[in-house]
Amino acid sequence: MGIYISAWLFVFGACIGSFINVVVYRLPKKAFLSKARSYCPACNETIRWFDLFPIVSWIALGGKCRACKARISPRYPLVELFCAALAPGCFWRFGFEWQTLIAFGVAVILLAVALIDLDTMEIPDSLVIALIPFAAGAVWAFSEVPLWERGVGFVTVSVPMLLLSLGIEGAFGGGDIKLMAVCGFLLGWRNTLVAFMIALILGGGRAIYLIFLRRKKRGEHIAFGPALCIGTAAALFFGTDLVRLYLGLYGL
Ligand SMILES: [Zn+2]
Repeated sequence: MGIYISAWLFVFGACIGSFINVVVYRLPKKAFLSKARSYCPACNETIRWFDLFPIVSWIALGGKCRACKARISPRYPLVELFCAALAPGCFWRFGFEWQTLIAFGVAVILLAVALIDLDTMEIPDSLVIALIPFAAGAVWAFSEVPLWERGVGFVTVSVPMLLLSLGIEGAFGGGDIKLMAVCGFLLGWRNTLVAFMIALILGGGRAIYLIFLRRKKRGEHIAFGPALCIGTAAALFFGTDLVRLYLGLYGL
């Protein structure tokens, strides 16, 4: 039974991943509401229905457009594969609970946020707004976090980020700040701090790496959104365990 459900969740996740690819590609271009069918960005040829299967089609086509043989980024099947694995992953982590649905929804939206921020250095407001129903649902689904801790979480990271960016121009983008307000409510203040710690380590590490490779100059902007997204997802899935582990180190 477990394998049967997992297999269906894998297929469902792959389809959601395919949708996330469309969101990431179209949302920054403001063309999201256009009814146009998926087309090849190189030759504008409409993609045939049998070439639209998640993961499988990319492999079958050898990563190339059927019409013009332009290379199709391996990011597309990787996003689909990630979401495909994520759906049963959420089910294993949280079981047959609303928590599973919320964790999956939040994680795929954060994936879209991270990819768009990497591509464009912007976090679309619409994706932050899309997180709000899930954050509201978490009040019931993750009821071990009391409402006041969520209220505190709303400002724990977002307000210091806001103050910092008022002092140092461009320290954080407005999108980062709004994202951490909503995620703060979603997680409650404890896990919001966990999320931010993870983000600082990842974001700092990545900045050093990029400067070291001379891909970026010092003072140049580096998208912080992806680190925030990974931190938030890690805190949502494992935050309580991480806090316990950390306090355990000090015998608390
Ligand atoms: Zn093409």
